[in-house]
Amino acid sequence: MNENGYDPHGQFPEMPEVKRRYTPEEAGHDTRRKPVSRIRRRRRKSLNPGVLLICLILAAVIGVSLYLIISGKNRTALPQETSGVSAGETTEPLESVDDGRDWYTVTVSEAQIYVGDLILVNASTEYRFPAEAENSITAVSSLKNGYYLLADPDAKLEPKVIESFNKLCSDYYAYSGFAYMQVNSAYRSRDDQISIYNQYTESYGADYAKAYVANPGFSEHHTGLAMDLNINRNGAISYVESDEGAAWFRENAGNYGFILRYPSDKVYMTGINYESWHYRYVGTPHSLIMNDMNMCLEEYERFLKDYTYDTTRIAYNNATGVEYVPAEEDADGRTLIYYAPSEGEETEIKIPKGYTYELSGNNTDGFIITANPDA
Ligand SMILES: [Zn+2]
Repeated sequence: MNENGYDPHGQFPEMPEVKRRYTPEEAGHDTRRKPVSRIRRRRRKSLNPGVLLICLILAAVIGVSLYLIISGKNRTALPQETSGVSAGETTEPLESVDDGRDWYTVTVSEAQIYVGDLILVNASTEYRFPAEAENSITAVSSLKNGYYLLADPDAKLEPKVIESFNKLCSDYYAYSGFAYMQVNSAYRSRDDQISIYNQYTESYGADYAKAYVANPGFSEHHTGLAMDLNINRNGAISYVESDEGAAWFRENAGNYGFILRYPSDKVYMTGINYESWHYRYVGTPHSLIMNDMNMCLEEYERFLKDYTYDTTRIAYNNATGVEYVPAEEDADGRTLIYYAPSEGEETEIKIPKGYTYELSGNNTDGFIITANPDA
């Protein structure tokens, strides 16, 4: 096992077969027909331990070279976008192998359960602050366009969230000339959440804090995928839900991968009172499916678990919506597949050939593949 966690012996158990492919010539033996007497001489010579050792070393060198060439051919170079927009580092699989069938295999590490767009964080599911996700958190000001505002100039989010929000707000502006959306609260470290919790407890009492502020470690704001929004018209602040100018935003946020995370009809499942301001990035098509089926993230994670590689997958098309595709049939459109982790550090995941993919953990016990047909 090297430092990347990749075990070549575990990955390629067929190695002995490769060894059998050496011809005697490759292994350093001369097989041309020779007079009997010469062969006899060579046989006697080969008993010399020095010559035997050199032959063995030669065979090993050629064998390793052959192995590297053959295994290199079997590996599939993954397109850049397969690892997600920003979190290439966080969702990159350890290894991808083309197995010559209608699926190719990707090996992912157990750590990837805790990163990705579909991470569930709630009162019973603690965020683990994975280093790779923390490292990619970025100052919004360094990437943002001019179509929205920041209440805190130092606000931070995951880059893919900033990119999608840029697009949402520039389209919003193009549609209605609206540029008053304001990011009021974005990424929070554990310490940030501790001080917010203490402030609320002091100002409004413990019950209020408990109802509205997540315990440190259990806030979605830790992920850099969530933000609280309001509307700031030249200093006049209003709610996204009640501002007439924000109707387009409310209706279209799902097209850009955002969901209203704590709807009023799901409090019993989210454990958080209705929050008209808290939007969460999950990416498409997940946001669209959740909206179509009126599911909050807790429900959606449970729903996805029924759709696996060897049972039924979910396919999503903008025109037709969700379709359920039996294992033996080809899917048309973006395809969702749930994987439970294998025992041990690594899980092999099958991706349909001709598809790139994004990988996300669910932050508890599984992975979700979003496979995208090649353009
Ligand atoms: Zn919030």
